[in-house]
Amino acid sequence: MADVGLFGICAPPEHGGAGADVTSYAIVMEELARGYASVADQCGLVELVATLLAEHGTAAQQERYLRPLLRARQRCAYALTEAEAGSDLSSLKTTAVRDGDGWRLNGAKLWIHNAPVCDFAVVLARTDPAAGHRGMSIFVVERTWPGVRAGPKEHKMGQRASMVGELGFADVALPAGALLGREGRGFHMMMGVLDKGRVGIGALAVGIVAAALECCVDYARVRRQFGKAIGEFQAVQWMLADMAKDLTAARLLVRHAAALLDRGERATAQASMAKCFASDAAVAHTANAVQIFGGSGYIRGVEVERLFRDAKITQIYEGTNQIQRMIIARSLLQA
Ligand SMILES: Cc1cc2nc3c(=O)[nH]c(=O)nc-3n(C[C@H](O)[C@H](O)[C@H](O)COP(=O)(O)OP(=O)(O)OC[C@H]3O[C@@H](n4cnc5c(N)ncnc54)[C@H](O)[C@@H]3O)c2cc1C
Repeated sequence: MADVGLFGICAPPEHGGAGADVTSYAIVMEELARGYASVADQCGLVELVATLLAEHGTAAQQERYLRPLLRARQRCAYALTEAEAGSDLSSLKTTAVRDGDGWRLNGAKLWIHNAPVCDFAVVLARTDPAAGHRGMSIFVVERTWPGVRAGPKEHKMGQRASMVGELGFADVALPAGALLGREGRGFHMMMGVLDKGRVGIGALAVGIVAAALECCVDYARVRRQFGKAIGEFQAVQWMLADMAKDLTAARLLVRHAAALLDRGERATAQASMAKCFASDAAVAHTANAVQIFGGSGYIRGVEVERLFRDAKITQIYEGTNQIQRMIIARSLLQA
C-alpha cells in the first residue's frame, strides 16, 4: 500500500505523501473496503496520524516518524480512549506531568488500533488538570520506551486483520521533543482531524455496502427456489433496491463532506451525517445480505457473513452514531 501511495494520501509530497485531496482519500477508502474493510481501516489510521504529524510535527518528528510511517517502515497508533473516557473524553485520566525538560506519562488506553505492534503512538494526555479541554496535549510515544506496555490483541467481532489492544504507561519518561504541537491544544488537534476521519469511516462503510450489494445481485441471479431465481421474488428485489438506494445516498453524503473539506470549508456536521448514515446503512444492509443468502449467509467463509461482522464497528468507532447525532443536532440548534 505504501508503494502505491495509499499511506498518507493527503500528506504533502515533501513528507512522502501522495498530496491528494480528501475526495481521493474517500474513493480509496471505499474501494479498499469493497475488498476488505480491515485494509481500509489501516489506511484510515495512517491518514489520521500522518495528518497530525504533517500539520503539527516539528521537522525532527516528521523525519523520525512521518517519513518512515508513509514508507511502511514504522507502524503507528492513535490513542485517545480509556476505560472511563470513551464518548466523553473530558473524563481522560492519563496524565503527563512536567519533569525537568520533559514529562512523566502515566495512564492506560483501551482498544487502540495497532497497540500490540505499533512502533509509536500519538497519545492524548492531561497536562493541566484544572484546564478541562484546554489542559490536554498530544505526545508521540515509542512503544519500546521504558514503562510502555502493550497488551495482547483483543478478539474482535469483525475487521479481524486490523488488531486493537491496550497501551499502558507507567511513569514513562518523555523527552521534551515528544510533545506534538502546542501544549494544551491536544484536544482541539485531535478533533481537528476527526472530520476527515469520519469521512474516511463513512467511505469505508460505503465500500462494505457496495460489496454486499455485488454479492447479493450475483447470488439472487443464480440461487433458485420454487423453480425460479430468488431475484424474481419481489421481497428479494426490494431488499436489493433499498441497498442500491442507500448505497448511492451514503456515497453522495461522503463525497459532499469530502468536497467541503477540499474547499477548505467547515464540514463537521456533514462529516457526522456521512459517517452516521453510511454506517447505519452498512449494518442494516449487510444484515439483509445475510438474509438474501439464507442459511449459507450465516456460515463462516461466506463473504456476506464477514461483511455483516465488519460493518458493526463503523457505528461505534470514530465517535458512536449517538454522538454523531448530537453533533448534527448541536449544529442545527447553534445556528
Ligand atoms: C475495534 C475498535 C477499535 C478502536 N480503535 C480506537 C483507536 O484506535 N483509538 C482510540 O482512541 N479509540 C479506539 N476505539 C474506541 C472507540 O472510539 C470507543 O469505543 C467509542 O468512542 C465509544 O466509547 P465507549 O466504547 O467507551 O462507549 P461509551 O462512551 O461508554 O458509550 C456507550 C453507549 O452510550 C452511548 N452514549 C454515550 N454518551 C452518550 C450521550 N451523551 N448521549 C447519548 N448516548 C451516549 C454511546 O453512543 C454508546 O451507545 C476503538 C474501539 C473499538 C471497539
